[in-house]
Amino acid sequence: MTVHDRPHDRDAERSRAAMVDELRRRGIDDERVLGAMAAVPRELFVDPDLADEAYADAPMAIGSGQTISTPWIVAFSAAALSLPDRARVLEVGTGSGYGAAVLAACGASVLTVERHPELAERARRTLDDAGYGDVRVRTGDGMAGAPLDAPFDGIVVTAMAQHQLPAALIEQLAPDGVLVCPIGDGGDGELVRHRHGETEGLVPVRFVPLVPGAPPSRT
Ligand code: SAH
Repeated sequence: MTVHDRPHDRDAERSRAAMVDELRRRGIDDERVLGAMAAVPRELFVDPDLADEAYADAPMAIGSGQTISTPWIVAFSAAALSLPDRARVLEVGTGSGYGAAVLAACGASVLTVERHPELAERARRTLDDAGYGDVRVRTGDGMAGAPLDAPFDGIVVTAMAQHQLPAALIEQLAPDGVLVCPIGDGGDGELVRHRHGETEGLVPVRFVPLVPGAPPSRT
């Protein structure tokens, strides 16, 4: 049995269609992003016990104290990148891998970096199972970006930068590249967009904090 003929596929497809209607109602109008949201099986990226709730517009725990972002914030951030065709994208904070899959479904070539090795390993498997094996998953401190793979047309950060944008990420943008990143104090702040040397605030948001360096080692 492949992922495409699971018994609950029909239900999931209906839930995804309802989610896309809700995203439209809430102002997402980028058709490429909406198409990606309609395509990626979000239920595969959450705890199997919570699969029934996968399409609710709520953050959900994914282990290691982290959360999968809500559908709205994933769609809004992807749309805010205004990606060119065949964009090269860096995601900081792989988490479940869902956001990376959505970017890949938008046609981007995606590199995603996660500081928790166990999350990175699980995301790798989920992305493979969901048909997004092309996404590259790396374990490390995403605040340093990926200098050897730069420049990027889009960089999206999915954890809250504390007070300022990580300088390394700005340096790794292509000339017309766009960085979308939450900035704040602790978990509360604002999603901002940085391009052509200027930063604008987009919307108030809550995210888990962006943490520099390696995680505490597993015991
Ligand atoms: N995009 C994810 C959301 C993940 S939540 C999804 O769709 O599921 C944010 C993630 O950022 C967490 O997994 C957290 O471990 C990770 N993170 C925090 N600081 C980081 C850093 N410096 N480098 C890489 N990942 C980081």
